[in-house]
Amino acid sequence: MLINLSEVLTLEGKTEELSVPLEMECFSGRLGDFAVTEKTPIAFTLANAGTGKAKAEGSVRVSLAAACDRCLTQVPVHLEIAFERILTAPDVVAEDEEEAENRQLMDGWQLDAEALVYQEILGSWPMKILCREDCKGTCPVCGQNRNIRECGCDTFVPDPRMAVIGDIFNAYNKEV
Ligand SMILES: [Zn+2]
Ligand SMILES: [Zn+2]
Repeated sequence: MLINLSEVLTLEGKTEELSVPLEMECFSGRLGDFAVTEKTPIAFTLANAGTGKAKAEGSVRVSLAAACDRCLTQVPVHLEIAFERILTAPDVVAEDEEEAENRQLMDGWQLDAEALVYQEILGSWPMKILCREDCKGTCPVCGQNRNIRECGCDTFVPDPRMAVIGDIFNAYNKEV
């Protein structure tokens, strides 16, 4: 949803509180597509922050359907997102890199709330998703989920260390 910021950007001392629905049904990143299973509306507090500038503070809770990095069991990812951004009017020069980056969230005088939440999810995505801390993962030989049953395959590498190496590898691959 686009939020018109023309008043908060131009009227000194202007503040506004609003709640807008999050439209996102699915979060698509380099790691794949994750269905949004639960979400709250986005709560915004908007405040004028000088000529052509506005501060947008807010929060939203999102749950996504993801899978355990080791055994691929479905694991929900719950994110409690809180943000604070300085946004600028199209006719104002961004003062620093952060403001310039936030410009990407603006469509003229309007804030793209979906794009903002997308960026926030990207930034708060967990490095590691595990169904449980000691998840044994799947057997590299036969694919059996070893939390459910030991398959007895000869895998010669001790499980715990292999799992740790796997995590580092996954974390490395997760840089988005
Ligand atoms: Zn697992
Ligand atoms: Zn096996």
